[in-house]
Amino acid sequence: MTGSSWPEGIEAQAHKAAASSGPGTRYGDSMPQTRLTVLSGPSGVGKSTVVAELRRAHPQVWLSVSVTTRKPRPGETHGVEYFFAGDAEFDRMIASGELLEWAEFAGNRYGTPRDAVMARIATGTPTLLEIDLQGARQVRASMPEALLVFLAPPSWEELERRLRGRGTEPADVIACRLEAGLVELAAEKEFDVTLVNTSVQDVCEALIALLVEADN
Ligand code: ADP
Ligand code: 5GP
Repeated sequence: MTGSSWPEGIEAQAHKAAASSGPGTRYGDSMPQTRLTVLSGPSGVGKSTVVAELRRAHPQVWLSVSVTTRKPRPGETHGVEYFFAGDAEFDRMIASGELLEWAEFAGNRYGTPRDAVMARIATGTPTLLEIDLQGARQVRASMPEALLVFLAPPSWEELERRLRGRGTEPADVIACRLEAGLVELAAEKEFDVTLVNTSVQDVCEALIALLVEADN
């Protein structure tokens, strides 16, 4: 899929979605600002599972939808889990400064549309980014007030089991993601808070408490 097949750019779609849906969508100078929360952790730790549960149980939290050059997995929908883009469209978004941060991870590129996030922060909406370590570092540099949350596995063996058990990647991609996972685990101390993903429900409750706290 390429940008040319869409009636409007991804950034416009993301911005329109942010501005037109859900509570607290008007924003202006007098609206309260909120602190951005970032969730990171090694591939396979359970970030998407936690985010899906958060989306279900706490719809008041706004979850940024990233752009990626990765192909959709079965069940993934354009505009829900990701905006799926071609390389040319991703290049264009970088060049025009539309991404708050972006990174290459395991052979694909991922980025956060900037305007949609800024619009939500401006309305005081609890806002969460689920991004990799390189992206978390970029957010730390550009928005030092952001809260960085690290999602850790109960053990390395369990991380490997989850990544292989998901069954969505071939062996070489799993190896690449595990290698990246070692780097991500070594960076845990750069984060403000660590949550161990033993129970998805427990992590969700801890995360919502942090998001609400970050909002006050
Ligand atoms: P990530 O988004 O971090 O790459 P996923 O959310 O895709 O990870 O989770 C990887 C696999 O681990 C999935 O099969 C998911 O069902 C499973 N999983 C996630 N959280 C838990 C948990 N707390 N206990 C057991 N399995 C989990
Ligand atoms: P996946 O391909 O498993 O969906 O995601 C791979 C990695 O990319 C995960 O660590 C995920 O957090 C990260 N990721 C997803 N969206 C973004 C983004 O917008 N920016 C960055 N930097 N990483 C992202």
